[in-house]
Amino acid sequence: MQINEVLNDLCTKIPSENILLNEPMKEHTSFKIGGPADLFVTPTTIEMLAYTVRLCKNKQIPYYIIGNGSNLLVDDDGIRGVVIQLYKNLCDIKVEETLITAYSGALLSKIASIALEHELTGFEFAQGIPGTLGGAVAMNAGAYGGEIKDVIISADIMDHEGCIRTLTKEELALGYRTSSIQTHDYIVLKAVLQLTKGQRDQIARVMKDLAGRRRDKQPLEMASAGSTFKRPEGYFAGKLIMDAGLKGYRIGGAMVSEKHCGFVVSDGSATFKDVKELIAHIKLTVKEKFNIDLHPEIKIISN
Ligand SMILES: Cc1cc2nc3c(=O)[nH]c(=O)nc-3n(C[C@H](O)[C@H](O)[C@H](O)COP(=O)(O)OP(=O)(O)OC[C@H]3O[C@@H](n4cnc5c(N)ncnc54)[C@H](O)[C@@H]3O)c2cc1C
Repeated sequence: MQINEVLNDLCTKIPSENILLNEPMKEHTSFKIGGPADLFVTPTTIEMLAYTVRLCKNKQIPYYIIGNGSNLLVDDDGIRGVVIQLYKNLCDIKVEETLITAYSGALLSKIASIALEHELTGFEFAQGIPGTLGGAVAMNAGAYGGEIKDVIISADIMDHEGCIRTLTKEELALGYRTSSIQTHDYIVLKAVLQLTKGQRDQIARVMKDLAGRRRDKQPLEMASAGSTFKRPEGYFAGKLIMDAGLKGYRIGGAMVSEKHCGFVVSDGSATFKDVKELIAHIKLTVKEKFNIDLHPEIKIISN
């Protein structure tokens, strides 16, 4: 069995507590949905990560990188192969004047609070996004008029061979929820962010205001993966879904949020199938009513 060979080899380089067998993915996703990953690895060094990537390539076992799992919908059947989680470990953050260099596992909220501590402005938009820097660069995450593209200078990435290089902002090709990280399946190791000197009170005020707007508008009390669909050009997905009469529409444990129709949420019992069927129903209804195609923003992982 290839996966057992991978496990035996991994154990020679990675502490056993950082390799889990049949780990339920629902424990690592904000949707709280997802069956077992064959192997779930949490490397604590870049060398361990490179070893894991090269091993998977040699053994032809698929691997999947995750951060905080806040943009993922994972199949109840789980994930065949190796899930590599870059979160909690590999999360150092360094500040030099107006530059912040952070490893991919750093939470955006943590980077934002360090920016505030150092009176640096430009990262307030990201404070309430519940992901890691790696996930945010991959997704070019954004909110309230700001996006990663506005502040990033470069990122160190690892390719399938385990080789590391630095990509400039242009090479990262950041667009609306896209990047060259996604198109080339690179792994973000760390990124350099350029902020500007600001005033502590003003930065804190903006962060408080944005956090309040999130609390008022978004169903933060329910499990979800954030906005389910990308914004179609010239429209808002949430408004289209509401105007299509789907507010509160439910399939099993999955429903269109009553608070914000752009979010598919789980009542705690939703299965992968419930969410997939609801997404398909929303797409079909919006297409029939308005002739507009909705495309998922969330990443759906299914073998
Ligand atoms: C309540 C809520 C609110 C949200 N609000 C926003 C918002 O305002 N704006 C917004 O943009 N998003 C939002 N999101 C979605 C999500 O938080 C972002 O997309 C976030 O950037 C994902 O980061 P993550 O670490 O959780 O990545 P994951 O969900 O773990 O992964 C997302 C994608 O990034 C890839 N990835 C993760 N880490 C790396 C890495 N180191 N290298 C390469 N690829 C990697 C994964 O393979 C996957 O394709 C929200 C989600 C929730 C649940």
